[in-house]
Amino acid sequence: MADTIFSKILRGEIPSHKVYEDDLVFAFLDIGPLSPGHLLVIPKQEVARVDQLSDESAAAIGRVLPRLARALMKVSGTEDYNILQNNGAPAHQAVFHVHFHIIPKYADGRGLGLVWKPTKLENDEAKKLVSELVKNL
Ligand code: AMP
Repeated sequence: MADTIFSKILRGEIPSHKVYEDDLVFAFLDIGPLSPGHLLVIPKQEVARVDQLSDESAAAIGRVLPRLARALMKVSGTEDYNILQNNGAPAHQAVFHVHFHIIPKYADGRGLGLVWKPTKLENDEAKKLVSELVKNL
């Protein structure tokens, strides 16, 4: 994987506002926050996409996300937040090192804005999808 700006942050070559670190995970303030407190949680494993993460790194991130979310709830004073994780440029990934955004959502609307356009799940399509997905797990 190409060296990203997050690799440089992990190596301490460029500064960051570090909030948390353990053997496998690093968390810091996003430099372009959607709302105050916007955090990024990254694995130390240098892979671009969540599907490339080792079970160990994935578990380590999963362990720490709720803890960071609780701290952010206290500090931001809002109970509401989004966790966003983008994979691939068409899916809005700009930095090709896995990262989870934790973005507080404030009563005045600051936070993640979403355009959500649900379609209808048809029964036949659902059965086919489940069968293919289960085969590929
Ligand atoms: P994404 O679109 O999911 O790839 O998001 C990349 C995020 O990384 C954006 O929210 C940027 O503001 C953030 N970002 C880029 N460079 C830095 C940096 N040096 N320090 C902190 N956050 C950064």
